[in-house]
Amino acid sequence: MTTPQYSVAVGDVEIDDEFWTPWIRRNRTETIEYQYDQLEESGALENFRRAAAGREGGFQGMWFQDSDAYKWLEAASYELAKADDPGLRERVDEVIDLIAGAQREDGYVNTYFQLVEPDKQWTNLNMLHELYCGGHLIEAAVAHYQATGERSLLDVGVGFADHVDDVFGDEVDGVPGHEEIELALIKLYRVTGEDRYLDRARYFVDLRGHDDRLAWEFDHLDEVAGHEYSDGDAAEGAEVVFTDDDGEYDGSYAQAHAPVREQDTVEGHSVRAMYLFAAVTDLVDETGDEELWAAMERLWENMTTKRMYVTGGIGPEHEHEGFTEDYDLPNETAYAETCAAIGSIFWNQRLLEHTGEAKYADLVERTLYNGFLAGVGLDGKRFFYVNPLASSGDHHRKGWFTCACCPPNAARLFASLGQYCYSTRDGELYVDQFVGSTLETTVDGVDVTVEQSSSLPWTGDVTLAIDAEGPVPVNVRVPEWATDATVTVDGEDADVDGAGFVRLAREWDGETVEVTLERETELIAAHPAVEDDVGRVAVERAPLVYAAEAVDNDRPLHQYAVPSDADAEATHEPSLLEGVTTLDVDATVPDLDGWDGSLYRPASETASEEAALTLVPYYAWDNREAGDMQVWHRSDLS
Ligand code: ZN
Repeated sequence: MTTPQYSVAVGDVEIDDEFWTPWIRRNRTETIEYQYDQLEESGALENFRRAAAGREGGFQGMWFQDSDAYKWLEAASYELAKADDPGLRERVDEVIDLIAGAQREDGYVNTYFQLVEPDKQWTNLNMLHELYCGGHLIEAAVAHYQATGERSLLDVGVGFADHVDDVFGDEVDGVPGHEEIELALIKLYRVTGEDRYLDRARYFVDLRGHDDRLAWEFDHLDEVAGHEYSDGDAAEGAEVVFTDDDGEYDGSYAQAHAPVREQDTVEGHSVRAMYLFAAVTDLVDETGDEELWAAMERLWENMTTKRMYVTGGIGPEHEHEGFTEDYDLPNETAYAETCAAIGSIFWNQRLLEHTGEAKYADLVERTLYNGFLAGVGLDGKRFFYVNPLASSGDHHRKGWFTCACCPPNAARLFASLGQYCYSTRDGELYVDQFVGSTLETTVDGVDVTVEQSSSLPWTGDVTLAIDAEGPVPVNVRVPEWATDATVTVDGEDADVDGAGFVRLAREWDGETVEVTLERETELIAAHPAVEDDVGRVAVERAPLVYAAEAVDNDRPLHQYAVPSDADAEATHEPSLLEGVTTLDVDATVPDLDGWDGSLYRPASETASEEAALTLVPYYAWDNREAGDMQVWHRSDLS
């Protein structure tokens, strides 16, 4: 038995949930299928074939295209962990054979370098993503091994990791421009028990910010790999993203501006930051490094209180795909990459498992239902790379093949969602997310079964039927959004003291735990320093953030004003957007009488009239007729 990515294995949880099952099914039948076809169409598999045959040239796609195959393998492996699927298993094995065939004797595998610049491997750590691709290879290898017990891909991952371990700290000293290898090496350590992978992950974490290698590469762009690429110069790209306003080298894009343990603010490319912090949290969990832990707490505080959208989305700026300054959270130009939301979920789940603190599960929930889920269309075939909080109607999801990173990342999150529903810690079970599911696991050697049904996100009724071979305490989360909560065991009230985990320590023999979570539709204001949100309110009906779309409203959205004490009426509409609860919020709009023929009038002569602003969950926007969308509505707040 090996340690899974988180404390509960994907295969231990079977999700059967009114809200989530359709998403997970579409992920299996649409996304994973499309993604496989695309591996062939984009040339990703052909690159491996050519490398295996010892050919030169003919590389297709982005230079980090190998990672598409790895992410597909990881998502497919999670599906195989949950249920046997001979057709999928056959394709998985075929792809693994191609990768194994392309791997060199010394363990190196990267088809861009093998086909295009065989003499320049490890010369452009900033931009060429060899370690990033290798990290995804290792994550796929671990997922496949845990799903099937087979070593076919694990051996490839181990070969690559051993090669990296030989080369780095010896022939090459440096860190990758795009983090990913760090968290992957820790996963590999947890599966193999080999300390050298943990040590190498620590090397990469500790060297970042001390390392002058990235700056050296920046100053020697003509000497490093990346100029041979036909569809764009990967080396020159560094000149855009690794510079400050004066054109000088600035490592913050890759979180290399300071050692991690000295960082106070989340900086740079937000996906990179999340993958780094996920790895650092794993490292803290393994080593108890208090200085690194203090940095994690500071960075989380900075992100969640000053640099995060109400949707849980992060990274407002396009050019660096990343963080900017405190309170800089524009709505219409928000970047908020889908992958960054996914990365935040990765990081927060690790924080949760390390501490057992419910606030991290609260943020996983907020990000799952809003910042992440908006990234995927209801057809399972179209994706947002960028997730604005306001739109003039010209921002739409696109087929997954037009942007390589977000769709396969969404695929692996949907396929492994069960891991986020439960966790175990110090011999106790935690119910982290309310998703209808059956859990069969062991907690410190004790068999435990939980059958959960949940009415979230529309109402807050959860039932857990629990069986355990021994006295395993079960901790049930009361979310921060619950205005009132009751937890009963076979009808008897348990003590609930505000938000956080309610600990139920007892024997379990099929007892039923009923959780009732009350919540109101709530109007939310942003800190006054957020320029774009001043005088505005957003509407939440937790865990969902709501948005207005033109298609539901008679007047242009800019005409609606929502008083800060407005009432809202919730209506569940089973046939709208696959079943959503809509909100009609009391608002006012300008009275149009008297405006005919005039552009300007004395304000004192104008009037307003009552109207209702209709809202749908933010995740569901852009699935109907295109038009304006906004999350933040004009209000009477000063
Ligand atoms: Zn992405």
